[in-house]
Amino acid sequence: MTEFICRTCGDRYPIETMHWLCPCGGLLDLDFTPSLDPQVVMKRPTTLWRYREALPVPPGAELSLGEGFTPLLPLSIGGREVLVKQEQLFPTGSYKDRGASVMIAMAAHLGIRNVVEDSSGNAGCAVGAYCAKAGIHCRIFVPADNSPGKLGQIELYGADLVPVPGTREDTAAACKAAAADTYYASHVYNPFFSTEPKPLPTRL
Ligand SMILES: [Zn+2]
Repeated sequence: MTEFICRTCGDRYPIETMHWLCPCGGLLDLDFTPSLDPQVVMKRPTTLWRYREALPVPPGAELSLGEGFTPLLPLSIGGREVLVKQEQLFPTGSYKDRGASVMIAMAAHLGIRNVVEDSSGNAGCAVGAYCAKAGIHCRIFVPADNSPGKLGQIELYGADLVPVPGTREDTAAACKAAAADTYYASHVYNPFFSTEPKPLPTRL
């Protein structure tokens, strides 16, 4: 069974919780055991969700804009042959679509109708786009003096921009305050965004 587990104290919580930090202040992680059948995987379309048993989202909750499988471009740099992964070819133009795809899929599965996120760039675009796909209302908190380029892209996805005067830290603080009564679709704190395996604490 997939659960949240605090990386500091080891306390466990159901994944249906709206908490994004443990009451002890520790970051939440996911206790999740992936399983993959290579024979099944190879028959699937080439998106991130090809490996869906390695993603902590229940069957049927997949949410895709065709992310993943960006090509490798052979280049010669400084006399070395390298392969450069073309991550700019993701649906919103960055690798943040990977995490947003899984995180917003889970939010939709939980019946979440409103989310907040703080980002002035790629993460805001990714969360905005996947919320649009899922029919979830999205507010993106941004520094008030942010350059307009990415902000226009975020608005194109239908997200509401919330300009916050002050520093980037002020923007994050305003978003965390808003997250007290809605879902914090954070590319920093939400463990569904970043699901790489990490050693988990065990309670003594
Ligand atoms: Zn804790």
